[in-house]
Amino acid sequence: MSEEILKVENLNKYYGDWQVLHDINFDLKKGEVLTLLGPSGSGKSTLLRTLNGLEDYKDGAIYFHGKKIDPNPKTWQALRQKIGMVFQSYDLFPNLTVMENILLAPVKVQHRNEADVKKEAQELLARVEMQDYAKAYPRELSGGQKQRVAIVRALAMNPEIMLFDEITASLDPEMVRGVQEIVENLSQRDHMTMIIVTHQMNFAEKIADQVLFLENGKILENTPGKEFFEKPKTKRAQEFLESMD
Ligand code: ADP
Ligand code: MG
Repeated sequence: MSEEILKVENLNKYYGDWQVLHDINFDLKKGEVLTLLGPSGSGKSTLLRTLNGLEDYKDGAIYFHGKKIDPNPKTWQALRQKIGMVFQSYDLFPNLTVMENILLAPVKVQHRNEADVKKEAQELLARVEMQDYAKAYPRELSGGQKQRVAIVRALAMNPEIMLFDEITASLDPEMVRGVQEIVENLSQRDHMTMIIVTHQMNFAEKIADQVLFLENGKILENTPGKEFFEKPKTKRAQEFLESMD
């Protein structure tokens, strides 16, 4: 039995009076890849943002290593060092070089030794074939390169969980595969625990241990990846998969 890192229990979230997430329940085990699928507007980004403390929630609970998270800004600030997130829009600081972008949080927030982090950052950059760009500025990079740097920046915090929200959605088609391979490698080589939102079904099928299928803020299915893609339990998921072909 694998260790449970994250557990979400009866989570409800509202934007004003309107309920966006309904009674969300699931858990995430160490080394597991959970893929969050569902139509646009189903609440995938909201759920990921909630798991990173970027959104509050009205009731329900999130547990990290079995301990209930006290949802205040300070707790989340600390937790965000352990739960890394990469977004669709590579949100690098434009006025900082690639290396400065990567060093910022580990040095300023985690107070780690700059030389140590730099060495780690160089290794991480080499892993994503960006070792020659440490001194480049974000504007000098392609979308795919920026996204590689954004991944390295999140990894430099040594997170226990990585959250990826449609990280290839803004990329030119020829850049998509390279970024997907990095994520696959993180799973296979590092056994990184991850939650991935993607619209790329072949990628999801390849990488998902477990699929959460969301619609209208509700989890309609929580199904092992293989089973989901072979024979989803619900008609809605079946229709969704057919519409994605
Ligand atoms: P997905 O990522 O699955 O496309 P989102 O989580 O972005 O879905 O959005 C879920 C729903 O919440 C959508 O109807 C969206 O319009 C709405 N929504 C998202 N962010 C906000 C916000 N800040 N305020 C109000 N409604 C929002
Ligand atoms: Mg989204």
